[in-house]
Amino acid sequence: MKKLRGIPVSKGLVIGRVALIEHDLSFRIPRSSVDQANAPAELERFELARRAAIADLDALHEQATGEMGEQAAKIFLFHIGALNDPSILKPIREKISTDHSSAEYATSSTLRDLAERFANHPDSTFQSKVDDLRDLAHRLLTKLSGATTLDPTRLNENSIIVAHDLTPTQTAGFDRDKVMGFVTDLGGRTSHTAIVAGALSLPAVVGLSDITSRVRDGQTIIVDGTRGTVILDPDPETIETYARAIERAREAKLELHELAQLPAVTTDGVEIELLGNIEFADEIEHILDEGGKGVGLYRTEFLYLTREVPPTEEDHYESYKKCVEMLDGRELTIRTIDLGADKYTQLQEAIPERNPFLGLRSIRYSLKNQKMFRTQLRAILRASAHGPIKIMFPLVTNIAEFRSGKYFLREEMEELAEQGVPFDESIKVGMMVEVPAAALMSHAFAREVDFFSVGTNDLVQYTLAVDRTNERVASLYTPIHPAVLRLVRDVSRAANRREIPVSCCGESAADPAFAALLIGLGVRTLSVTASSLPLVKRAIRGLSAARCERLAKKAISFDSESEASSYVLNRLKKIVPEAFDGRPVG
Ligand code: PEP
Ligand code: MG
Repeated sequence: MKKLRGIPVSKGLVIGRVALIEHDLSFRIPRSSVDQANAPAELERFELARRAAIADLDALHEQATGEMGEQAAKIFLFHIGALNDPSILKPIREKISTDHSSAEYATSSTLRDLAERFANHPDSTFQSKVDDLRDLAHRLLTKLSGATTLDPTRLNENSIIVAHDLTPTQTAGFDRDKVMGFVTDLGGRTSHTAIVAGALSLPAVVGLSDITSRVRDGQTIIVDGTRGTVILDPDPETIETYARAIERAREAKLELHELAQLPAVTTDGVEIELLGNIEFADEIEHILDEGGKGVGLYRTEFLYLTREVPPTEEDHYESYKKCVEMLDGRELTIRTIDLGADKYTQLQEAIPERNPFLGLRSIRYSLKNQKMFRTQLRAILRASAHGPIKIMFPLVTNIAEFRSGKYFLREEMEELAEQGVPFDESIKVGMMVEVPAAALMSHAFAREVDFFSVGTNDLVQYTLAVDRTNERVASLYTPIHPAVLRLVRDVSRAANRREIPVSCCGESAADPAFAALLIGLGVRTLSVTASSLPLVKRAIRGLSAARCERLAKKAISFDSESEASSYVLNRLKKIVPEAFDGRPVG
């Protein structure tokens, strides 16, 4: 029995069996095969991956020639040559068509054999090519893993996925009847994969560094997504203990669920609006069931991330209309697509960005891809004829971006009006505040926007210079930091002065302690994942807004995040022990 510790990203306890997704960067793929009938499709998959890799290499070669000269760029020609070399391709293709090997195994075993021969070759020219072969294998395997999903036949009803890393798309695509949770080598607390796990109520622990090399398929595993622990090969006594904990957690959840129909109001009568965050329309049912009063954040980029081809205007429209119908008159805030950073498969780009979190993402991406942006805006407008919708632009950093977004919206409105298509002419348009520059300039933005929504996931990352997806700096990712609190205070003040609504839709709003601070800073709307709604409500109902205000004032006055967070947690534990005693709820 082995106990490992990682970063808890999605609450819940599960006992299951390992289903290992190989993403082997060390270029060793276990022997795996496909059915004879599927061999032609497997060959085709290899061909697609090979062609995609060549296209990337062509682009890299061109770029490198421009930047570094023909000589230095030659390295890419070797790779392109290898991908067209019959002495490499023939054995790979034969392994697939004759032995029915998987494309991954055929690729990795062929290139590994070749690398071994090169490494032992007396001529040093051959030896120097070993790393290139390794690189090539990595490139092909990455393309292949992008083109495939986990073989569903390997899953049974209690599978727990163990992977090096997962994309939000892979996570969203899991068969929910079989996959009970997941653990990964990489990842951070608010990565989008983690958010999807929360949305799907899939217990998950990330950032375990090397879990993929410690497990084998079918091994028994316990995942505690609340505490961040993973136990391999648990003994019968441990299984028994965890089985009891699962039962207790189930009961606690039922108890909390009873709060769903009670109002979210503080002990001194301040009403807090509790909304839900969604990635998929179907989550609305869960939001309403847990007592949410509407949707404060619809992450529409998942319409792109979960399909092979970009959604059409009709696809957008149908999704938004479905949400509006399910909400039946309640509020729906649609965020325009937030592609980029970890929500855009950089691997599929010919030339990935070097620093995608500071790159072409969110509103920047939309403004550069106008056709796509306008398609979405038209669909949102059309859906607004069916019920209340607000539009929100992500990652706005300067006023010009907000104005440009509105400019396109107005143009689409004019066109729809000309065509006689109905829409809500007074639709509200707001922005996310998730960049320190925007928070610091919130007084100026407040003159132009209809509302603010603070996105702490990104705001914390950009304020503290901590990559939200990087497990190595996860301990530095602390929302209860005086610097973050000061920014939230500025935004809240700017909004309240102009009497425009301000909400928070980052994951930290689901942390009862941070929620108390938000209330203390004047935020009256919180938008969180469905499963967090009861926890937040319990905290709200046990606190007064006046006390939250004193708490926030004090927290902001500290010099360090550790003083601020220990003060806040200690105070809250004394005031509402049942909500802040740290007892995990599964
Ligand atoms: C945020 O940044 O806090 C947010 C809600 O947006 P996302 O997590 O989708 O980047
Ligand atoms: Mg964000």
